[in-house]
Amino acid sequence: MYWEKEIETMDRGGLEKVQMARLRETLARAKKSVHYGKLFAEMGLDAGAIRTVADVGKLPLTTKEDLRENWPYGFLACSRDDLIRMHSSSGTTGRATVIFHTESDVAAWTNLLARSMYMAGMRRSDVFQNMMTYGLFTGGLGFHYGAEKIGALVIPAGAGNSKRQIQLMRDFGTTAIHIIPSYALHLASVFTESGYDPRRDTKLRMAFIGAEPHSEKMRRKIEEFYGFKAFNSYGLSEMNGPGMAFECPEQHGLHIWEDNYIVEIIDPATQKILPEGEEGELVATTLMREGMPIIRYRTKDLTRIIPGPCPCARTHRRIERIKGRTDDMMIIKGVNIFPIQIEKRLMEIPGVGTNFVIILDRVDYGDQMTVKVEVQRGFFGGNLQQLETLRRRIVEEIKTDILITPKVDLVEPDSLPKSEGKAVRVIDNRKD
Ligand code: ADP
Ligand code: ZN
Repeated sequence: MYWEKEIETMDRGGLEKVQMARLRETLARAKKSVHYGKLFAEMGLDAGAIRTVADVGKLPLTTKEDLRENWPYGFLACSRDDLIRMHSSSGTTGRATVIFHTESDVAAWTNLLARSMYMAGMRRSDVFQNMMTYGLFTGGLGFHYGAEKIGALVIPAGAGNSKRQIQLMRDFGTTAIHIIPSYALHLASVFTESGYDPRRDTKLRMAFIGAEPHSEKMRRKIEEFYGFKAFNSYGLSEMNGPGMAFECPEQHGLHIWEDNYIVEIIDPATQKILPEGEEGELVATTLMREGMPIIRYRTKDLTRIIPGPCPCARTHRRIERIKGRTDDMMIIKGVNIFPIQIEKRLMEIPGVGTNFVIILDRVDYGDQMTVKVEVQRGFFGGNLQQLETLRRRIVEEIKTDILITPKVDLVEPDSLPKSEGKAVRVIDNRKD
């Protein structure tokens, strides 16, 4: 049941001791980097002032801008000769940030992925098809190494080419996949069009889904279609990538591997640390990174710590599924809205297809939100009355949630642009 029982179920006191020892090492190492060396000197930081894990809150925060300013090597805490791997973020919100790993960094990261997948139930008897982009993006190689460490048979399929993905699954008896949730929904429609039913025609039994925000409804929709369990996987390249937090078989929150990270939740506006259970921005400190330690990194991801123990007996605390990034928040007519709120509503409505996009315009000095929604095949070209009923229902459902009346356009299946990577959910034309 456990990949590393001792550390996964260690009592909180023991875990804090591990964290404290590793934090000390991390600070000593970080000091060697140009960025932290300068910062610690300016602050006159005395390592002795950090006596408990909670003292981490006294250290300065690190932002994506800091990483960009120190691009490419200003965060390195080792010689370049010690590096064996480079990765970068997807660049969703601007210039991509670059992360370097030593051999021991890659080993520690690989171990976290093995631990995570094993926790969800993957074993050496599984055939694992990794449908993520390989290359600089961490989702490809990260999972690849982790799955090999478990001893599963790995099919490095990469992203895209849906028909070939289905063929591989059928030919080699794929049992587990790693897939972006929006792409899983798209692939579902390709399955249907090709006349295949994954429940009948494949051996799929589990999936790891992540890399973008998605609602519980979307997860259930994916699980229902494929007939498997889908486990939420969270991470960001600055903190290695996937393997940072992962769902256990309870599927209620994601265990953050606290022997590798110290996490805090802060108020994004005031930067104050929030009490356990309150929603805010996730901040994380690496504890096992030799090449490029990062202290108190502002992830910009909104979540909260779920208080209380998990029935699976793992003691590492759980975060709630990510609600979105602070920069995903749309302000429409003064109301704060996240794309996931719209998605959650859409996933509940029968007839809604596999893709949607939110378009924001400024009309007569006011905000207008248009939601283009693909309908299921069979709905389109059918009864116009039925379509109008569906359209009205979507307007009503969204309005109930966000209190703004959207314009809803129903469009044909597969007509909206789709991405092989993270879905683009919002097009904001309001910027002057
Ligand atoms: P970028 O920040 O450029 O997108 P990454 O590839 O490092 O680059 O992506 C990490 C980000 O992806 C996270 O900060 C988060 O916003 C999002 N993300 C990753 N996994 C999940 C998940 N399971 N749920 C929601 N969002 C996720
Ligand atoms: Zn658990």
